[in-house]
Amino acid sequence: MTTFADLHLCPELVHTLEELGYKQPTPIQAQAIAPILEGKDLIAEAQTGTGKTAAFALPMIQRLSREPVNGDYHHIRGLVLVPTRELAVQVGDNALEYGRLLGMRVISIFGGVRFDNQIRKMKRGADILVATPGRLLDMLKQKKLSLEHLEMLVLDEADRMLDLGFIHDIRKLMSYMPEQRQTLLFSATLNGPVETLAESLLQQPLRIQVTRRNAASQQVKQSAYAVTNADKTDVLSYLIREGDWRQTLVFTRTKRRADLVAAQLQEEGISALAIHGDRHQRERLAALQAFSNGEVQVLVATDVAARGLDIEALPQVVNYDLPNQPEAYVHRIGRTGRAGKRGWAVSLVAPEERRFLQDISALIGKPLQVQPVPRFENGRLIEGAPLAEKKTRRKSAKSGGGEKSKAQGESQKISKPARSAGRRSLFSG
Ligand code: AMP
Repeated sequence: MTTFADLHLCPELVHTLEELGYKQPTPIQAQAIAPILEGKDLIAEAQTGTGKTAAFALPMIQRLSREPVNGDYHHIRGLVLVPTRELAVQVGDNALEYGRLLGMRVISIFGGVRFDNQIRKMKRGADILVATPGRLLDMLKQKKLSLEHLEMLVLDEADRMLDLGFIHDIRKLMSYMPEQRQTLLFSATLNGPVETLAESLLQQPLRIQVTRRNAASQQVKQSAYAVTNADKTDVLSYLIREGDWRQTLVFTRTKRRADLVAAQLQEEGISALAIHGDRHQRERLAALQAFSNGEVQVLVATDVAARGLDIEALPQVVNYDLPNQPEAYVHRIGRTGRAGKRGWAVSLVAPEERRFLQDISALIGKPLQVQPVPRFENGRLIEGAPLAEKKTRRKSAKSGGGEKSKAQGESQKISKPARSAGRRSLFSG
C-alpha cells in the first residue's frame, strides 16, 4: 500500500493529512504527486471526486515552502486558475487547510463580489492565489498585483474554463507570467480544444488518466440487454417492478427522451421525475431531494444534468440509451456500487447502439456483451432465460407490433409528457 510519505511528501504535510483522516493517496495522487515535486509539467484527465485538488495542491505547497519568504509581502508564486467562484472557494479552502503547518498564505479571488474588498485582501500578497480568469485579468490590468514571481501554474477543470469562454482571458494572462515555470493542467475530459491549449502551455508534459473513484470497480455488475428501441420503456418498467428496484437512476441521450421516459413510467404507476438542463436549478434540486429521500423511485437524467449529483451508493443505474462517448459510460456507472456497496449497471441496447459497445469494452477493459432480457421469478433474477415475447411486446402490439409502427406512433406520443406533467403533481406516486 502506497503511503503519502512514500510519495516524498514532507512530515508536516503527512501529519496534516493524518489529521484530516486521509489514510492513503487516491490513484491520481499516487501518480501525480512525485512528478510534480520533481518539477515536471503534467496533463491529467480527472473528474471531481478523484482527489485531484490535493494531487496538485500538496506538491505545490511543498515546493513553494522550500524557499523562505523574506519580509511581510508574499509574492504570488503559485496560481490556480478555476472556472467558477464555487471552485475558487473550495480549492482555496483546501489549499489553506493543507498548507497551514507550513505557513502558506492562500487567497481566492473571483468575479461577482466587490473589487476593492479583494484588493484589500491582497495587500500583503499571497503564496498561492486561486482565481477565476476574468477577475484576475482585471486586477492585473489595473496593476493591483503582479505575476512576475510565478513559479507554478495550475489550470483546473480546463474543459469547463474553455466551455465558459475563458480562452481569450487565459491567453492574455499568459503575457503576465514568466515563461520559465511549471504548468499543470487538469480536465474532466481531454478533447481537441483542451489538447490545443495544453500543447501551447505545457512542456513535455507527463500524461495521467484516472477514472472516477469506484468507477469500473469490481463492485459493479454490468449487464447489457438486447432490446428494440420501441421496447425500452416496457423492459425498464418490468425490471424496476419485478426486481423491486427502489432507487434507480436512468440515463437518456436527450432531454426530450428524459421527459418522455419519466412520463411513461408515471403512466405505469412508477414514481419518476426527469431532470435536465431545461429545468431550473431549483426544480433539479427538488427532484434530487425527492429522489434521495425515497419519495421518488426513479430519476431520469441526461449526462449534463447528472454532473455533480452526489448520491451515495445507488443500487441501480440504467443506460436507457448508450452514450456514444465511452467515458460517459464510465461516469454513469460510477454512480452505482459506491462506498463499498454492490451495484448493478444495466444497459438497454438497441441494434443501432451495438456499435458503441466495442469502444466501451475497450475502455473498461472487459467485454460487454449483449444478452437477452432476463426473467424474474418470485423476485429472483434468471439470467439467460429470455423474458416471454408478449410481456415486453405488450405496448408494441397495441400500436401494431413492429418497431416501425411504434416509431411512427412515437411522434404522437411526444405530447403526452407535457399533458401528464400538467395533470399530475410533480411528486405523485
Ligand atoms: P476533489 O476530487 O479534489 O474534489 O476531492 C474530493 C474529496 O475527496 C474532497 O472532499 C477531499 O477532501 C477528499 N480527499 C482527497 N484526497 C483524499 C484522500 N487521499 N483520502 C480521503 N479523502 C480524500
